[in-house]
Amino acid sequence: MANLNIDSIKDRTFDAIVIGSGMSGGWAAKEFTGKGLKTLMLERGRDVKHIKDYPTTNMYPWEFEHRGEMPMALQEANPIVNRCYAFHEDAAHFFVKDKEHPYVQDKPFDWIRGYQVGGKSLLWARQTQRWSDFDFEGPARDGFAVDWPIRYQDIAPWYSYVEKFAGISGNKDGLDELPDGDFLPAFPLNSVEQYFSKHVKGKYGRHVISARCAHLSKPNQIHLDQGRVQCQERILCQRGCPFGGYFSANASTIPWALKSGHLTLRPHSVVQSIIYDETKGKATGVRIVDTNTKETIEYFARIIFVNAAALNTNLVLLNSTSHRFPNGLGNDSGVLGKYVAFHNYSAHISAEYDDFKEWTTDGRNPAGGGYIPRFRNLRKQETDFLRGYASGFSAYRGQNRSWDGVGSSLKENLVKDDLGPWSVGSHMMGETIPKEASYVALDAKQKDDWGVPLLKISMDYDDNDAKMKKDYIDQLTEMFTSAGFANIKASSDHRAPGLDIHEMGGARMGNDPKTSVLNKWNQLHAVNNVFVTDGACMTSTSCQNPSLTYMALTARAVDYAVGEMNKGNI
Ligand SMILES: Cc1cc2nc3c(=O)[nH]c(=O)nc-3n(C[C@H](O)[C@H](O)[C@H](O)COP(=O)(O)OP(=O)(O)OC[C@H]3O[C@@H](n4cnc5c(N)ncnc54)[C@H](O)[C@@H]3O)c2cc1C
Ligand code: SF4
Repeated sequence: MANLNIDSIKDRTFDAIVIGSGMSGGWAAKEFTGKGLKTLMLERGRDVKHIKDYPTTNMYPWEFEHRGEMPMALQEANPIVNRCYAFHEDAAHFFVKDKEHPYVQDKPFDWIRGYQVGGKSLLWARQTQRWSDFDFEGPARDGFAVDWPIRYQDIAPWYSYVEKFAGISGNKDGLDELPDGDFLPAFPLNSVEQYFSKHVKGKYGRHVISARCAHLSKPNQIHLDQGRVQCQERILCQRGCPFGGYFSANASTIPWALKSGHLTLRPHSVVQSIIYDETKGKATGVRIVDTNTKETIEYFARIIFVNAAALNTNLVLLNSTSHRFPNGLGNDSGVLGKYVAFHNYSAHISAEYDDFKEWTTDGRNPAGGGYIPRFRNLRKQETDFLRGYASGFSAYRGQNRSWDGVGSSLKENLVKDDLGPWSVGSHMMGETIPKEASYVALDAKQKDDWGVPLLKISMDYDDNDAKMKKDYIDQLTEMFTSAGFANIKASSDHRAPGLDIHEMGGARMGNDPKTSVLNKWNQLHAVNNVFVTDGACMTSTSCQNPSLTYMALTARAVDYAVGEMNKGNI
């Protein structure tokens, strides 16, 4: 019996454990296995195999029972996730439904999640920009949060490293505020987007560039080696792409790691907590609940990476209590769960342009059009709010269709293909400031089916966000007006935080263990064999989309962790 137990422990012992199989966890698994480490990846949701488990990927609109729309009953049953623009009949199976995994909203928060192998990397909009020193120096310069313990030059080589493997399309635009990467060819701007780009550069010295995105516009050998091929510009990406045209953990990092023979992928495994051994002063493993058998099982490893997505990573750490860490693993500072923040996507502006009538678009642009990098408060403080916003910009020309008539006259009106004016639009992507008052915590009473306390979320907009939003609307209205656009309509949708799906912080990086949870290598200050490299680690939020930075930080942290292990320090 004793021997059986020893064998069983041996079977459950790995070099590295990765918690979560999404965007960042996929990178951790790829990097560990690439370095020859026997790695266990634990995922709470079901397995989703590339291609095989994309049931809607090749369906025509008329093959969907509701032509792609969500039936009213499902919309009403899911008021939170239904607010996400991608929650439709073709991809609903990749989203967590409202009642499946409850959480406590101390203040309204739309928590959009994907619990499956691949996480939200299946669903994302693939926008990928590097952060710059304007971002990493932001908190120190503007006096909020704590200073980032890294600068752009620390992460720049790792951005290149992940960009080359993932495949990022873009132009080298030469902007300090949005450093260039190792790009595949960009998806070009259309004629009106180009016109607007030229106009705002000439008049304001601002930039409208081709959005940078994780699509194989022209694959290199490394992408073909992953079994991925050129993006076909179908824009059905959220269904999962059979071509592997966009980067997801399912199409790229996970199959790569599995091919190494060093990865054990265990779906249906909810990590309850990380096991801390007081005598060793280290984490020794993790405790999971198998969602099929309800069995509690322990797995052991020398290195543990927490990649459960920002807020769930906070939950796992907060729930990992011991005599040494009564308030959560590594929480000597008391800041674990605090200083969470998000992006503010709540403002939009639309208009029409009655010129360029001899032009229209042909085909689709998976990058979504243009991107206006942050132009406010870059080199000096010039407004009454801190930080700034980036903006999306796109133009398209739709048909002048009419819903008038009945029977054959209605059909004729609907298939008319005479073109209307150009429609142009922009949305705001604002940085919000992490504050001590913004937090996530364990609910004192309620637990989920696996015995884990529910997560309580408490964050909100503030005065800085209101001022920033007004500035976005004023500036974009002026830029649209001076470009000759008409029927300009600005709107604010008053959404709760969360719908941007860029929640960050709670286990922030910093130089000082008294005010931060992680050091400059994403390693817990207090437990040197546990690392956090998803959004929980972010000291501030910048206004660029964050996932590329999570991926780069992950590859960098694995490299460091394995080096330390080889030196005997871990
Ligand atoms: C519609 C949409 C559009 C988006 N667009 C963009 C974009 O354009 N650009 C961008 O940068 N980002 C975008 N994002 C956000 C992006 O998807 C996330 O930033 C990214 O996926 C986060 O990576 P992650 O590894 O932290 O988490 P995820 O990819 O969510 O993976 C986390 C995994 O951990 C698992 N897990 C959680 N808790 C546990 C537990 N206790 N035990 C075991 N497993 C657990 C989850 O099931 C999940 O599979 C978008 C997201 C959505 C939904
Ligand atoms: S646009 Fe490209 S990545 Fe998206 S589904 Fe089509 S081929 Fe795949």
